[in-house]
Amino acid sequence: MIEKTKREGFVRVRIDGQIAELDRAEPIRLKKTERHTIEAVVDRLVVCDGIRVRLTDSIETALKWGGKRVVVLRQSRSDGVNEKTTTPTVQHSNTPTERWEELRYSTDYGNAETGFSLGELTPKHFSFNSHLGACPACHGLGTQLICDPDLMISDPSKTLAEGAITPWRRGTKRMQAYYRHLQGALVKHFHVDENVPFAELPERFKEALYFGTGHQPIEMSFRSDGRSSKTARPFEGLVPQMQRLYEETQSEFTRNRIRAFMTREPCKVCGGARLKPEILAVTIKDRHGCESNIHQFSEQTIQATARFIEDLELNPQQRMIVSEVVREIQSRLRFLVEVGLGYLTLNRESGTLSGGEAQRIRLATQIGSGLAGVLYVLD
Ligand SMILES: [Zn+2]
Repeated sequence: MIEKTKREGFVRVRIDGQIAELDRAEPIRLKKTERHTIEAVVDRLVVCDGIRVRLTDSIETALKWGGKRVVVLRQSRSDGVNEKTTTPTVQHSNTPTERWEELRYSTDYGNAETGFSLGELTPKHFSFNSHLGACPACHGLGTQLICDPDLMISDPSKTLAEGAITPWRRGTKRMQAYYRHLQGALVKHFHVDENVPFAELPERFKEALYFGTGHQPIEMSFRSDGRSSKTARPFEGLVPQMQRLYEETQSEFTRNRIRAFMTREPCKVCGGARLKPEILAVTIKDRHGCESNIHQFSEQTIQATARFIEDLELNPQQRMIVSEVVREIQSRLRFLVEVGLGYLTLNRESGTLSGGEAQRIRLATQIGSGLAGVLYVLD
């Protein structure tokens, strides 16, 4: 690595924060067992008039070699003005008393401090139908199937002995026998009565049954081939047990069976926004400083969206780039407002529209496409 840097014509490198000359007599020795950070020093300059060309050149070289990343070391003024900055300061190897401020920059959509990079954004990144944009937890659905304890006790007036815990009455004979043992062990551990209605059982027991006993082991005895054996381990809880079974099982039959105990809930990771957090971090801003990401944007009504687009904050260059698209969006929104649908939100699901609303949307689409020679009769 160091040899390669030398061959490319660099005279200095920074190894783990220490600057070293490449053309010195004795070769640089590094411990093979450790990870090292080796950075090529592209240029050293004093900031003054007339260095612009050289500076531009050097930055370009650094970006080319650094893969769109560059580190700038700036000598802090000795009067203590820069002392309060939060950026880490490093010691220069040759002059230990000088303080150097380290600044990291990058030209890609990345964070130069943490190294996180978003890559080039495309329209697909903003679609929950594409794996590029979809929230990995819910695959872009915005909802997740979660085991619901209330669904697992189909009749709370039944007792444990009568089989109040519905999922434990299903499955193969072997599984049912196992579940019976498990129930017996829990009953014994919590000293509850198997013959009272489930609704009257103590909350402490229900909580442990649904969500597990944590680190507390439950003693269980099994009988196989006439011999009985004892084991003690924590109970994971009905909800995690079913959730795990649902995710791990290969059998579509079992999965369908467990689905009966599940309800749809907004995804815990994206909160129903259906996209990855880094995509939701991309926002646009209007002239009043009102900022929104694509999810917040599509939660607006058509009327509000039209106003937002009208008030977009754009510099002349941005205006030139988006003018065509903005005009297109504006005309579509206008048609929808004109047919009286300004109150609908953009993310309204088509299945929830009334017949009249759906018809008016179709009408707006057809007006928008500029059809000629068609007569509409509206009653
Ligand atoms: Zn999600």
